[in-house]
Amino acid sequence: MGFRVSGDDGIRSEPVLPLKLWIYTNFDCNLSCRYCLARSSPHTPRLEMGLDMVKQLVDEAAVLGFDCVYFTGGEPLLLDSIYAMLSYACAKLPTTLLTNAMLARGKRLEMLRDAANPNLTVQVSLDGGRAETHEAYRGIGSWGKTVEGIHNLLESGFRVRLSTTETPANQSSLDEICTFHRALGIVEEDHFVRPLARRGAAQEGMVVSRETLAPEITVSVKGVYWHPLSTDEDMRISEQIFPLSAPVGLVMEKLQSAQALQTVK
Ligand code: SF4
Repeated sequence: MGFRVSGDDGIRSEPVLPLKLWIYTNFDCNLSCRYCLARSSPHTPRLEMGLDMVKQLVDEAAVLGFDCVYFTGGEPLLLDSIYAMLSYACAKLPTTLLTNAMLARGKRLEMLRDAANPNLTVQVSLDGGRAETHEAYRGIGSWGKTVEGIHNLLESGFRVRLSTTETPANQSSLDEICTFHRALGIVEEDHFVRPLARRGAAQEGMVVSRETLAPEITVSVKGVYWHPLSTDEDMRISEQIFPLSAPVGLVMEKLQSAQALQTVK
């Protein structure tokens, strides 16, 4: 059973729910960025999602017709189990790993290579084409390690996508990141810029809520959420995760009643 919406005439319309599944694997991180949506840091409790739970999520997502899975955190590469998680997921669905790439070296890089297939994309957060602009929010010493990680990933044959958060520190020099990624052979479609969101540790940026965000099903050990931008209490759809069809059904109901309201207006 998939969650595509049909019109009254029985003809399938476009899905109203983006069929991406986001999985928060853990909440601890080797960085403590000033705008972190998950309030992650080396001292944040791990709240790890175990391998068994990830496997069940991937299985159920595949049956429900989800198109792809995103692994995020915290820093997923801190987990010993991340390689098995990725290997399982990318055997079934296109999979993206979000990381700051600082740990993409040595044994971890080797294990990541062993776990991967061409279904796996690595999405790296990079906020600047030079240290100052990146480190203003991410911390001193982080840029060089992230850049080294990007090189390592590319040399290992991974598809690397870059994600930039626009901040007051980098907004006048975003072109430097474009110059940087083009020099590495990363194409335009694999670089995107997102605005700063006022959630988690962020004290500035766009105010976001269920009302302003289109839903993208997001799961952590604490439940199912409306959107990956926040695992705050007001964004939680359900504490119960399984069967995944239940919270997905709740979101669909909300979308359909919103659509019905718009039709009446
Ligand atoms: S924004 Fe990403 S890299 Fe920075 S602390 Fe949060 S999880 Fe870690």
